[in-house]
Amino acid sequence: MTAATDTTPAAAHQAAAAAAAGFAAVHGGAPDGVWAAPGRVNLIGEHTDYNAGFVLPLALPHTTRAAVRRRTDGLLRLHSAQAPGAVVELPVDALAPGAAEGWAAYPAGVVWALREAGYAVGGADVHVDSDVPAGAGLSSSAALECAVAAAFADLHDLGPEPAELALLAQRAENDFVGVPCGVMDQTASTCCIAGHALFLDTRDLTSRHVPLDLAAAGLRLLVVDTRVKHDLADGAYAERRAGCERAAALLGVPALRDVPLDGLEEALDRLTEPALRPLVRHVVTEDARVERVVALLDAGDLRAVGPVLTAGHASLRDDFRVSCFETDLAVEAAVTAGALGARMTGGGFGGSVIALVEEDAVDRVAAAVADAFAAAGRTAPRAFTAVPAQGARRLA
Ligand code: ADP
Ligand code: MG
Repeated sequence: MTAATDTTPAAAHQAAAAAAAGFAAVHGGAPDGVWAAPGRVNLIGEHTDYNAGFVLPLALPHTTRAAVRRRTDGLLRLHSAQAPGAVVELPVDALAPGAAEGWAAYPAGVVWALREAGYAVGGADVHVDSDVPAGAGLSSSAALECAVAAAFADLHDLGPEPAELALLAQRAENDFVGVPCGVMDQTASTCCIAGHALFLDTRDLTSRHVPLDLAAAGLRLLVVDTRVKHDLADGAYAERRAGCERAAALLGVPALRDVPLDGLEEALDRLTEPALRPLVRHVVTEDARVERVVALLDAGDLRAVGPVLTAGHASLRDDFRVSCFETDLAVEAAVTAGALGARMTGGGFGGSVIALVEEDAVDRVAAAVADAFAAAGRTAPRAFTAVPAQGARRLA
């Protein structure tokens, strides 16, 4: 079990220095600045962000750093410590969906989205470094997009608010990379503040920072990366999303968010395609769980959040059917070992699980999950505790 990533100013200084050193090795000389944007875990509110519903993410201490220096020749030159290989070189003027492949599509997409939004962006040398595990459901893609977005916004004095930067980063992922994600990950990465979860209404993008001082309550948030990502994740996401849209259309509402909890049974009866009923039940009850957790946090009743997380997992497993053997195993082992509650976080079919645990039970719960994985012959999961950290920012 590793401890939370260091969030002290000294650590930020060190991370910036490391990114600048990486920049110098690849591009030569010094960057104009270094920006950081975090990964996230979602406390509750899964698969609600494309149903105009509620989410409650928090930023992780883990960040992606972008060291960036402006160029005057209109070239974008991209390099990442996590994608060893040649520098990817693209003229900013020629950026269009399909112009970049692989990892480079994320940063290139951000520059494209800024330009599409009417911002005057020029070329730059970019070096990326990150400690957000990629593909673990912790949103390394949003961290990468948002670090680059923050860098370009600052360097070119563009001035968009963090929430607008998030929309541009989402546009990059949707339309340039081609991943139909909702807006939660990018909003968490740009808008979260330390010590708080972000209660976001994905319909009108209004949000509120909800205090989440786990340590003061004697609690910890354990994050378990199951180290698996099943191949069906992308197709299943698109299929669930289409199912939700179809159910909303059949019910005559703009989005499933508009089905009230006390109208759920009536809506389910009315739904002419029975196969869609569990999807509707998940989304409607999940929105209610987000509101419940926010109310509990506001009331300072943090321990009562645990069972709501576990109920959310059951809904994702049984109704929305986006869980898998490994996430179910981690949740069950954590709860059996005394976690107050646990659930998969992120899109599903692998990725990470979060567990709310008493401070003195962290090691026991992490060991129980590791033992369960070993007994099942699975790759050892990676566990760490997370405190709510700061969103995208300039480090140097
Ligand atoms: P998640 O966002 O949950 O980590 P995704 O599949 O959405 O998973 O995004 C992972 C992809 O994002 C990687 O395959 C890679 O293309 C890109 N990526 C993320 N972080 C980096 C990085 N530091 N360097 C290069 N590419 C990265
Ligand atoms: Mg992602």
